[in-house]
Amino acid sequence: MTCKKCLTKPVIKLPNNNISLCKKCYLRYFEKKVRKTIRIYKLFKKGDTVGVALSGGKDSMATLQLLHSLTQQQRTTKIIAIAIDEGIKGYRDETLKFAKKFCKENKIPLKITSYKKEFGMTLDQILKKLDIHPCSVCGVFRRYLLNKEAKRNKLTILATGHNLDDEAQTILMNQFRNNMAAASRLGPLTGIKDDKKFIRRIKPLYFLTEKEIMTYAFLNNLVTPFNECPYAEDSFRSRVRESLNNLDKEYPSTKSSIINSFLDILPILKEHYKTGDINYCKECGEPTSKEKCQACEYSELIRK
Ligand code: SF4
Ligand SMILES: [Zn+2]
Ligand SMILES: [Zn+2]
Repeated sequence: MTCKKCLTKPVIKLPNNNISLCKKCYLRYFEKKVRKTIRIYKLFKKGDTVGVALSGGKDSMATLQLLHSLTQQQRTTKIIAIAIDEGIKGYRDETLKFAKKFCKENKIPLKITSYKKEFGMTLDQILKKLDIHPCSVCGVFRRYLLNKEAKRNKLTILATGHNLDDEAQTILMNQFRNNMAAASRLGPLTGIKDDKKFIRRIKPLYFLTEKEIMTYAFLNNLVTPFNECPYAEDSFRSRVRESLNNLDKEYPSTKSSIINSFLDILPILKEHYKTGDINYCKECGEPTSKEKCQACEYSELIRK
């Protein structure tokens, strides 16, 4: 078997269109797909200060590498990496070391904040104190700090490493939970409308699969041995992920079909849910759907 484009040794077989590509042609294919997503969905424009939420895992590293290389020549778009240190010993400290090294070598500004600094405790300490599902508190604190840190650094948009697999899972999970309001906030450009206190998020890797990103990360030496958080446990998402992977093996294109059919109805969903007003938390002033935001609720529990 040879590369479809240049007849040299292939590194990956793309399941959806059944073609094999060599390293050079694969990297070109990957970058072209990201460029197309940015262009079609107008993810950012010249003059923007784009933040990349960086965890040190393969998806966020690939996003940073891509956006850095795509914007390096034009010099009008600024790229800044934002990292949140949750305080997970033996995991996040290691992925952050990797992220710091990458940013230093590529001269990318990196801003790091932590749960310890902002909430007074690391995630490890919080979980010793509270009997709570790790990802519930962690997810709320991370989203909250990303927005705060994005504003502190005057970012105009924030890129995350979400991929096609993540999005297909989330679409199904929202369907299973009958939560179409949450579904309306998905898509390559997240959220429904602009708000001065909320930095909108973009997903440049939206149309790339987990496998494609792993291959890209591997070919660019962006893979660390620390890819699994010790608190990640069997959850609803893992069940959905497993079912989708099995279906996709048997019926290739299942995941892409979920994404594409969802994108067809997404404008209708966004229009339907755009009427609600955004509130601001009475404690911290951050955007929330309630009177007091969930991060303030959790941080009160920690202080008790
Ligand atoms: S798996 Fe859960 S606890 Fe671990 S970093 Fe992700 S959200 Fe936080
Ligand atoms: Zn080739
Ligand atoms: Zn608050």
